[in-house]
Amino acid sequence: MKVCVIGSGLGGLLAACSFAKKGYKVDVYEKLPYPGGRFTNIDYKGYQLSTGALHMIPYSGNGPLGTMLKKLDADVEIVDSKPQVLFNIEGENLTIGEIAKVFPLRYKVGLLKLLAKLKLNEGDKESFAWWVKKQVNSELALKIADAFTGWSLSLDASEVSSKEVLKEIKNFYKYSGPGVPMGGCRGVTRALLEVLSAEGGKLHLKNSVEKIYGDKHAEGVIVEGEKKNYDLIVSNVGLKATASLAGELFPENYKKSIMNIKSSWGIKISVASDKPMLDFSGVLLTPYAERIHGINEVTNVSPVLAPQGKHLIMSHQILKPDRNVKLEIEKGLKDLKKLFPDFNKHCKILATQVHRKNWPVNRVPSGKVISPRTPLRNIVNVGDAIKPLGMIETDGIAGGVKEAINYVEREFS
Ligand SMILES: Cc1cc2nc3c(=O)[nH]c(=O)nc-3n(C[C@H](O)[C@H](O)[C@H](O)COP(=O)(O)OP(=O)(O)OC[C@H]3O[C@@H](n4cnc5c(N)ncnc54)[C@H](O)[C@@H]3O)c2cc1C
Repeated sequence: MKVCVIGSGLGGLLAACSFAKKGYKVDVYEKLPYPGGRFTNIDYKGYQLSTGALHMIPYSGNGPLGTMLKKLDADVEIVDSKPQVLFNIEGENLTIGEIAKVFPLRYKVGLLKLLAKLKLNEGDKESFAWWVKKQVNSELALKIADAFTGWSLSLDASEVSSKEVLKEIKNFYKYSGPGVPMGGCRGVTRALLEVLSAEGGKLHLKNSVEKIYGDKHAEGVIVEGEKKNYDLIVSNVGLKATASLAGELFPENYKKSIMNIKSSWGIKISVASDKPMLDFSGVLLTPYAERIHGINEVTNVSPVLAPQGKHLIMSHQILKPDRNVKLEIEKGLKDLKKLFPDFNKHCKILATQVHRKNWPVNRVPSGKVISPRTPLRNIVNVGDAIKPLGMIETDGIAGGVKEAINYVEREFS
């Protein structure tokens, strides 16, 4: 079977390697001059910034992505963060066990109830914010919920269902995480490219797919003006871009059904420091910051991400489409200076990256579960539009790729 993968993001590369390992003939077309999409590094003054992700894998080495990478024999080490998460509250960095001490007495019973239910409750369609409020109606609990969903999903807790978030939290208990891949995002991308090449798959950079052609099924793609025939098309470019490439091959009602899906946007600030600003490799959630939801310092695990003796710190905040980008960045910078009183002495801003439109944080908001299948039997979607319930970011992508592979095997064997 001849497989065409459109896009070399993480979803495209995972699918390409999986199909190549099964003996299919795989071509990956990437319109940019580099592979990896939003999951690779940008070398800037010796610091390894990223094209998107914060150099973290939500469920570390044992989650869906880590498991798939092992199955593919991809040579990348993912290191568990310890502690996984701390909460910056009133200037102190607290563990989850220490949080109770900052809650006023009247909320303590509700808080204990909430912590127990995180493990037991399945949640529902109601928002996570609403669910939290039902357990403990305190401002701090809601701020913590917003910091968690803002950091991990680029959504407010009121924008995502409790069913999605409670499943995500259960997955943290099940798999642990987050983890840092050695070498950052490019550590993963590079390992997958090695697998692809060893299995005979081909990557074609600076090759933009312009159209998927066919009649009742897809017959191939037009790349840089040239027609190429394939049995299966795997699209990694998002639902709307795939529909646009397929044109009249997809029915109007399907196109309408995906048109109103809104992507999640965010702002990432990358900072250089001459001393460690955090003394751990996990995430510092910042519920009391005005805009920033969390910060990490991945050089505590993978020092190659900064020049020798230097450190790379990254913050993340949601960007709402109706907000002024310049003001949002200013607020993010103000937060950083407030969180680290010695910021001006030790730190320098390397980059502020705005992730929106065609380069968002998530093409489909977390909690919206979409099948990899399309109206045409031999076109499937992979990537961050296709994430099973309760699976965050790249672990969700791996879960979606697994579903796509199972579908193809069932349908074409
Ligand atoms: C600020 C930020 C922080 C994040 N942090 C994390 C994190 O810490 N951990 C985590 O797990 N996830 C994180 N994510 C999410 C993660 O980066 C994405 O989920 C993931 O990289 C998306 O991969 P993808 O395969 O869906 O798509 P993409 O990476 O977008 O890949 C799609 C590829 O298709 C190519 N393409 C598009 N059109 C065409 C065409 N017509 N022909 C050929 N090629 C085409 C594009 O150039 C691109 O390379 C973060 C994202 C952002 C923006």
